[in-house]
Amino acid sequence: MSQFANYIDGQWVEGASVSRNVNPSNLDDVIGEFAQADADQTQRAISAARKAFAQWSLSTPQQRFDLLDQVGSTILARKAELGRLLAREEGKTLPEAIGEVGRAAQIFKFFAGETLRIGGEIVPSVRPGMTVEVTREPLGVIGLITPWNFPIAIPAWKIAPALAFGNTVVIKPADLVPASTYELVKIIAEAGAPAGVINLVMGRGSVVGEALVSSPDVDAVSFTGSVSTGRAIGAKCFASGKKFQLEMGGKNPMVVLDDADLAVAIEACINGAFYSTGQRCTASSRLIVTEGIYDRFIDGMKARMQALKVGDALADGTHIGPVVDDKQLQQDERYIAIAREEGGTVFGGERIERETRGYFLAPALITETTSGMRINREEVFGPVASVIKVKDYDAALAAANDTEFGLSAGICTTSLKYASHFRRHVQAGMVMVNTATAGVDYHVPFGGRKGSSYGPREQGSYAREFYTTVKTAYVSPGTV
Ligand code: NDP
Repeated sequence: MSQFANYIDGQWVEGASVSRNVNPSNLDDVIGEFAQADADQTQRAISAARKAFAQWSLSTPQQRFDLLDQVGSTILARKAELGRLLAREEGKTLPEAIGEVGRAAQIFKFFAGETLRIGGEIVPSVRPGMTVEVTREPLGVIGLITPWNFPIAIPAWKIAPALAFGNTVVIKPADLVPASTYELVKIIAEAGAPAGVINLVMGRGSVVGEALVSSPDVDAVSFTGSVSTGRAIGAKCFASGKKFQLEMGGKNPMVVLDDADLAVAIEACINGAFYSTGQRCTASSRLIVTEGIYDRFIDGMKARMQALKVGDALADGTHIGPVVDDKQLQQDERYIAIAREEGGTVFGGERIERETRGYFLAPALITETTSGMRINREEVFGPVASVIKVKDYDAALAAANDTEFGLSAGICTTSLKYASHFRRHVQAGMVMVNTATAGVDYHVPFGGRKGSSYGPREQGSYAREFYTTVKTAYVSPGTV
C-alpha cells in the first residue's frame, strides 16, 4: 500500500502512526496510508518554519513570484490527475474536482502577481519636513488548519498568500482528506521552496491542530471548518496573543420571488443546494419562496431532483457524489429526522445502494418549515435544503436575515428594485443575484459576517490584511 510522509524542514519524515484514506464512493478502495504527526513532530515543523523565516522574509518579490508561478503552472499541467485524486478522496464529482484543482492553480498565479503589487505609501506628515512611510511586512510562522470539503482549493488560498508575502507555513489538512494537500505541498517543495518554508503535518486536529494553536512559536492561525472548533481555536489564539482568522459555517438563504424566471431559480437552487453533495459552506440550505410562485417552484424542484444521478464520483454522468464519510452521513440523516419530527415534509433524503459500498444519499427537500425550526438554524452540511414559504419580499428579506450566520445569500428576481434592495440589506459577506449562493471567483474577497467568519477576508488583494502587518515609519527632516 502507498505510504505518504509528513514534510518537515525539507525532508519527508514518517509520522508517529498512520491513518488510512478511503474513497467514499467505494470503501474497498484505499488511497493510501498517511503519516500522523504527534505534538513533538508538529513542534519540529514549527521550529523549521521559524528558522526558515529569517531568509524567506528577506527574499525578493521575484523569487516568490517565480515559486508561486511555477506551482500554478504545475498544478494546471496535472489538473486531470489531481482532480481524479481529489474526487477519489473527497467524493465530489470528477468535473467538480477538476474545477477545484484549476481554481487552486489560478490562486497561485494570482498571488504570484501579488508579490509584485504589495507596494506601500508615502504620506505627507502633519509636521514640517517629516516624511511618513507606510509599508507591509510578513507576520512570521503561519499555522494553517483546513477542512475536508475543499482539499486543494482551501489549502491553496491560505498557502499562496502566506508565501507570497514572505511568511513561512505549517499546514495541517483535515485528517479525512490529506492526499490532495500532500500533492500540493510536494509540488511546492519540488518547485524549489527552501527547506522549512512549507511544512506538512498530517494527523488529528485534537493533536496536530492543538499543537499548532498552542505553540508560542506560531504567529498567526488561519482556520476553516465548523463553528465550534473555530471558536475554540479563536479563544486559544486570543489568549496567547496570536493573530487569527476563522471561516466557519453558513445557513445561506436563497430567496425566490414571484417575478423570478422559474427555470433560472430552479437551476440556481439545485446547484446551490445539492452540487458538491451540499458540502459547501456557501450551500443554499434555506430556500425562501414567495406564495405566488411557490407551487410551481416546488413541482419544478422535485422534477429536477428526480433527474439527478447520485453515484460514484468518478463515473460519467454522476451529478452528486457520495457524502464524505459515515459520520457526516449520520449527521445528514439525523437532521432529516429532526425536521420531520418538527413538522417538515421530506421529499427524497433516503440512502441509496450502488454497485460499490459507499455513502450515497438522495438529495432531500424539506417543505412546511419555519424559521424557528432547527433545520433552518443549524448547519447540516449535506444535500439537504429546507423551504420557507413567505408572503412577500419584505418577509423574505426578514427570513433571510433571521440566522446567526452571514456567509452568502442569493435572490432570484427579474426586478432591479428588489435585487438592489436585497444586495444592500441582506446581512451576508457575499450576495448573488440570479445565481447560486455557492461558486465564487478567485480574485475577490471571500468571507462572511455574524457567526460565519472572524477576522480579515480571505482571497484577492484583501488577503494581505491577514498575511502582513503594517509598519508606519517617520523620517525626520534632519536625517542624512
Ligand atoms: P472541524 O471544524 O472539526 O475540522 C476542521 C479542521 O479543524 C480539521 O482540520 C480538523 O482536524 C481541525 N480540528 C479539529 N479539532 C481541532 C482542535 N481542537 N484544534 C485544532 N484543530 C482542530 O470540522 P469537521 O471536519 O469535523 O466537520 C464537522 C462539521 O463542520 C461539518 O459537519 C460541517 O458542519 C462543518 N464544516 C464546515 C466547513 C466550512 O467550510 N464552513 C468545512 C468543513 C466542515 P481533523 O478533522 O483532521 O481532526
